[in-house]
Amino acid sequence: RGQGRRLALLSVTDKSGLVDFARQLVQRHGYDLVSSGGTASVLSQAGIPVQEVSDLTGFPEMLGGRVKTLHPAIHAGILSRSDNPSDAADMSARGLRQIDMVVCNLYAFQSVVASDTVDPSQAIESVDIGGVALLRAAAKNHCRVVVVCQPGDYDAILTELAAPDGGHEVTAATRKRLAVQAFCHTSDYDAAIAGYFGRAYFGQYQDINFIPLRYGMNPHQVPASISHPLGLSLPIVTKCGSPGYVNLLDALNAWQLVRELREALGAPAAASFKHVSPAGAAIGTLPIDPETAAACMVADLAAELTPLAVAYARARSADRMSSFGDFIALSDPCDLATARVISREVSDGIIAPGYEPDAFELLQKKKGGKYCILAMDPDFQPPLEESRTLFGLRLRQRRNDARIDPAEMFAKFSADARRDLTVATIAVKYTQSNSVCLAKDGQVVGIGAGQQSRVHCTRLAASKADNWWLRRHPRAAELRFKRGVKRPEIANYIDRFVADELLSGDAELLEDAATRPLGPEERRVWLEKLTGVCLSSDAFFPFRDSIDRAAKSGVKFVSAPGGSANDAEVLEACGQHGIEIAFSNTRLFHH
Ligand code: 5GP
Repeated sequence: RGQGRRLALLSVTDKSGLVDFARQLVQRHGYDLVSSGGTASVLSQAGIPVQEVSDLTGFPEMLGGRVKTLHPAIHAGILSRSDNPSDAADMSARGLRQIDMVVCNLYAFQSVVASDTVDPSQAIESVDIGGVALLRAAAKNHCRVVVVCQPGDYDAILTELAAPDGGHEVTAATRKRLAVQAFCHTSDYDAAIAGYFGRAYFGQYQDINFIPLRYGMNPHQVPASISHPLGLSLPIVTKCGSPGYVNLLDALNAWQLVRELREALGAPAAASFKHVSPAGAAIGTLPIDPETAAACMVADLAAELTPLAVAYARARSADRMSSFGDFIALSDPCDLATARVISREVSDGIIAPGYEPDAFELLQKKKGGKYCILAMDPDFQPPLEESRTLFGLRLRQRRNDARIDPAEMFAKFSADARRDLTVATIAVKYTQSNSVCLAKDGQVVGIGAGQQSRVHCTRLAASKADNWWLRRHPRAAELRFKRGVKRPEIANYIDRFVADELLSGDAELLEDAATRPLGPEERRVWLEKLTGVCLSSDAFFPFRDSIDRAAKSGVKFVSAPGGSANDAEVLEACGQHGIEIAFSNTRLFHH
């Protein structure tokens, strides 16, 4: 160190707190200062002694500030190691001085590009070059150098320098913390730059590694986008329409659900999502009986249905009222029969591994050409770790890669129960928690999502399953609607008809206005016939109440994680209702 004094390099865009910090470094802790042009002039004006970078390098700032600190005298000063004879020889041969502290914050790229009026040629001037190099070099050499990338740290550093026995030193622990902070700072900075230019240059053409979204969770949350965190190609291509943020949340969850169903059960699968939970999900196997086809509102298409079309018709039939405006996922490329089923439903979008040309042509006409059609790369494998930011903080976790393997988890059940427990369990894996799902005939028949109480999930799922079953009541099938009554109106009427929730004016929809609502006795008798239902729960049952309620809706097979203090009571309840239960080891919360 020249004359035993330490040397700090200061080069900051945000000059708040700078003068006080610099003054104390000089007056109380024996630092010499060197600064880039703007920073040096603020310090000189405040009467603080400071050298300009160009005095140290013998090289002027040039290119209008593009090159300020990018010089070996600066970077060798930062990067030279302590106690390294060869570094020391290099430094003395060139008459260079070690730099002990780097105080640098970067050009305010993020706030510059937040303005609507900025264009890329202006934004490019806010891409900091030398500052990033300073921070990176200082952070790399943190075993000797203190790196300070935000004014909020000045006070803590002064306090440490002033510690009675500290010898005007910053501790190794603090240097490590500051280095990590600097690495994070440059990484966020680069992400903001990549995001801005991706949007600016390729946004309107849907570049493969960046899709601009219409808006975020709500229309005032703009801008919004999806990209690959490593800048790689996205596995999703927008083939039609313009997806929103919630569409993507639905699409990415629904896709995972159908691909796992397909893998576990070896049949085409479909899901119908609303608000990031499935309203329905199913696998498609033929044949489909006339009653089921009628309940799924596809009787007129029965002759041409494919397994994939059956999968979607069943998924949509679980809770037709909730599926209004759904986001659809298909495990297999969309064929014409499936597109026909979809084309007459109200839906917001679809994700599938591909589209046959005639199917695509049909779907493309939906919503006046604005139907959101996403093509998913079926071979895409996500990394094991996933992260998200919430309130500015990053959370990381291993993704939920728990495999639902029917042969392993449900070995003791009959083939049908094994299939339906698999459907229910994979469905809860992608349902907002708490969740309980009832399944039968290879499809979801009722889902209770997002409840804070387990028994509320069960009540909701079971009452939806009751409604699903009642919609298959012969009297529901006999209803005749007036010409011009639309499909959603029919679906919603039937929902109310079977649930004893008819509204005044409902009779107007029917050809025979004198049609009697489904009475309590008719409901009771029909509901008694519902049996063989499977239930899966995303976490353990704290009490037997859920089992007691499930039994009333024909549940005979249950899968849930064990581990509750009341497992014995739950087992006893199952025994009393003739329910077979398998405790799993795997909790499946999802948010
Ligand atoms: P000043 O106001 O001192 O002139 O400039 C400070 C800013 O310049 C800091 O934000 C720092 O990150 C940035 N900076 C430092 N060295 C260089 C360089 O060589 N090139 C560029 N483009 N920016 C630099």
